[in-house]
Amino acid sequence: MAIVAFSSWIAHQLEQGIEVVDIYLNKAHFPVTVLGPGKRIGLWLQGCSLRCRGCVSRDTWDRDDSHKISVELLLDWCKSVSADGLDGVTISGGEPFEQPEALLVLLQGLTDWRNSLSQPFDILCYSGLPYSVLENNFANLLGFMDAIIPEPFLEDRPADGPWRGSDNQPLLVLSEFGKSRDWQITDSPGGRHMQFVTDDERIWFIGVPRPGDMERLRGRLLEQGIELSSCSWKA
Ligand code: SF4
Repeated sequence: MAIVAFSSWIAHQLEQGIEVVDIYLNKAHFPVTVLGPGKRIGLWLQGCSLRCRGCVSRDTWDRDDSHKISVELLLDWCKSVSADGLDGVTISGGEPFEQPEALLVLLQGLTDWRNSLSQPFDILCYSGLPYSVLENNFANLLGFMDAIIPEPFLEDRPADGPWRGSDNQPLLVLSEFGKSRDWQITDSPGGRHMQFVTDDERIWFIGVPRPGDMERLRGRLLEQGIELSSCSWKA
């Protein structure tokens, strides 16, 4: 199944004169199969001030109005691409909790939508903030999530399980529905799968690479005569 990119869809919507407001988004893709179990929508919010050493998503750090879009349009896109079935929505970044008001609207919309479905999907969120900070400041947002992977990424502590970047990052189940999910199901039990999406002149790499994977990939591509520029994992 071809992966659908939000960027192509929104370009068409903008041509129709639909207003762009509300949330800073880096990208959205479906189906994503490497950031949580099953077939998922992946939403990467734009903006992160945490600056973890070794972050492979440096393109999500800076925020400007070119990334701003309507939450409602984003929800419409989610519904349009996943009509044939959806296991979950993964919200990543960037740091999603740096946009608490917009994230709340997004989570409310996702929850209303899934409550209308006979087969509800789960909501998994990544954050680079310590869980104690999230609990103390964003309990209202956590209340909409089924699971979260918090804590800053630590480059020198690679994780061996699925979905997590470093081993200090637990997968915490937050809801009764979340308890009914098997969060360890993965199509790559012995390693890490990545997905690749082309979008105009860019290639999106989706997933959680092991340390050095992206540079190894860049070297392999270079051997084939393909040079990547402006890599999101390099300064
Ligand atoms: S790993 Fe996540 S939290 Fe850390 S700098 Fe990168 S985007 Fe921000």
